[in-house]
Amino acid sequence: MQDRFVTFKIGKVKNIALVAHDGKKKEMIEWCERNKEILKHHSLCGTGTTARLITEKTDLPVKGYNSGPLGGDQQIGAKIVEGSIDFIIFLWDPLEAQPHDPDVKALLRIAVVYDVPIANNLATADFLLHSEYMNTTYERKVENFAKKVQDRVEKMK
Ligand code: PGA
Repeated sequence: MQDRFVTFKIGKVKNIALVAHDGKKKEMIEWCERNKEILKHHSLCGTGTTARLITEKTDLPVKGYNSGPLGGDQQIGAKIVEGSIDFIIFLWDPLEAQPHDPDVKALLRIAVVYDVPIANNLATADFLLHSEYMNTTYERKVENFAKKVQDRVEKMK
């Protein structure tokens, strides 16, 4: 019988997505500047405006996807599913309504489904970035979807 979970390896070099709502962009840029020496050893990407601002202000290379309200959160979610993003700093703004609220929720959810480390405030971001796992590989544990699909197909027969 197939196992209920499968593991995916987070490498020594992390594939980090950086996303910040407008009210949190300043904090994100300052955090990136403060942690530049660590971040420069990892592969960085982010939603359009966040990525562009970080690169402009800190010189860190950040691959930009679409802007969040135009589908950027969904693109990052898809990369998590494909396994090419395995670490997220997502500073969402708890004091401001967002036009793409469903996409925000979807990104938070998919990060949990795929057992991807995700920081939603600066303190968690600091703890994550200074964790011993930043310098080693890590096995994250994900629901075995092949088994799930097989079980469901069996049930529908
Ligand atoms: P932005 O998107 O970086 O393009 O502003 C962030 C978001 O709102 O998810």
